[in-house]
Amino acid sequence: MTKNLIQGITGNWEIVIGLEVHAQVKSESKLFSGAATAFGAEPNSQVSFICAAMPGMLPVINEECVRQAIRTGLAMGCKINLRSVFDRKNYFYADLPQGYQISQFKDPIVGEGTIIVDLEDGSKKTIGVERLHLEQDAGKSMHDQHPDLTYVDLNRSGVALMEIVSMPDMRSPEEASAYFRKIRSIVRYAGTSDGNMDQGSMRADVNVSVRKVGDPLGTRTETKNVNSLRYVYQVVESEAKRQVALIEDGGTVKQETRLFDVATGTTRPMRSKEDAHDYRYFPDPDLLPLEFSQELVDELKEALPELPDAKHARFTADLNISDYAANVLVSEKENADYFESVLAAFAEKTGKKPSELATACANWVTSELFGALKKLGENISECSILPSHAGELLALIDDGVISGRIAKDVFEFMLSEKKPPAQIVEEKGMKQVSDTGAIEAIIDKILADNEDKVIQYRGGKDKLLGFFVGQVMKQTGGKANPQVVNKLLKPKLKG
Ligand code: ADP
Ligand code: MG
Repeated sequence: MTKNLIQGITGNWEIVIGLEVHAQVKSESKLFSGAATAFGAEPNSQVSFICAAMPGMLPVINEECVRQAIRTGLAMGCKINLRSVFDRKNYFYADLPQGYQISQFKDPIVGEGTIIVDLEDGSKKTIGVERLHLEQDAGKSMHDQHPDLTYVDLNRSGVALMEIVSMPDMRSPEEASAYFRKIRSIVRYAGTSDGNMDQGSMRADVNVSVRKVGDPLGTRTETKNVNSLRYVYQVVESEAKRQVALIEDGGTVKQETRLFDVATGTTRPMRSKEDAHDYRYFPDPDLLPLEFSQELVDELKEALPELPDAKHARFTADLNISDYAANVLVSEKENADYFESVLAAFAEKTGKKPSELATACANWVTSELFGALKKLGENISECSILPSHAGELLALIDDGVISGRIAKDVFEFMLSEKKPPAQIVEEKGMKQVSDTGAIEAIIDKILADNEDKVIQYRGGKDKLLGFFVGQVMKQTGGKANPQVVNKLLKPKLKG
């Protein structure tokens, strides 16, 4: 029962977590200007007068960014607000030339919804989403370009972000990182953000508090800009422990903003936390309220691709794949797409129904293929094995042309030689021997050479069956069809 609880000296503590995920919108241009958004461009090469906040410039909403926010909201099963308002959030940053950020406060474009996350023990948990709003990103200060000057790159300034705010529904480091992963998976499926954490297109502010079970919510801290699943886990773990120790030592948690230190895996204070009223939000007078029709929403909903939960349901219900394998395949869209291409090729080559072949196919993709990719340090998009070749390999096993054992060798050759598996099997003479006569001759010889063991077997040492099968395999270079071997061997051993 103490799972997920922290054992303190005064009793058990519960961790409460809420995440604010910032996902950069996938779009050609920025939220309120036509400047480009490509990653890795020369500093200040993608800056319009609007992004640089030149006096008199007026923001113009980028409709594609609006559509992307709606798509994301729909993909998370959230309420879409046909009318929303852009507000000015006033704060000073050296790399934010406007002196305020255009965001949404009281009336966001997307309202409440829910996300289902998959946990390691196979259970699922529903996490509430409070809202999603659109806002501009700030620029970037570069402190390492000059000994005593800071440089500013405004390429990011004005790029569209979706801030996805969760309810304080998570209760463990695992749940927090599983939620973050699920959000990334959803935006990638929906094509609304590339979710690329290394390039800063996805990051989370991690709110953590602790309380005794049954107590009201405790005071939270907010750790900013956490950009990996593992870091989210570490922030929750270290911050919760710190708070428990602090409170049990007679102290109180201060509502503050903290920074994560990757080197130590702990957080440290950055600044005391502002409250909403400190930002002096007010509706941006340069922008009309954002309004669109229900028809647009319906149209976008209709055009959404199959999302991870629906795909998972189809994989388990229609294809009879295990819950676990479906989770592994579905978490990244590229993996699921690859699997489905392999399965299609497998079905075509064997003439069987995909549902009959799906489990074998899923096992092969998640163990053999992913194992090999892991060793090579590649992801699926870099994989040199064509899905059609993988399907062909599985068909060769299914048709009894090669054994599962030999298939592993064929796969090695596929990785190094990039040839179709049937050609490899042909060229290297790797076909399985199912010829009864040939196998029978080998068995007879082995029995004759090992009379002592035959006697022991007949005397009740059943385990020796494995020895005999092994000998047959050895002498046929692993190519004897195991079923044929078993069928012939047992009656002969019994005598
Ligand atoms: P702000 O905009 O000032 O950061 P919000 O009310 O929007 O504040 O909350 C931000 C996040 O903090 C949300 O994800 C919310 O779920 C989470 N949160 C709120 N209260 C707590 C708490 N006591 N403990 C942990 N998380 C909390
Ligand atoms: Mg916030």
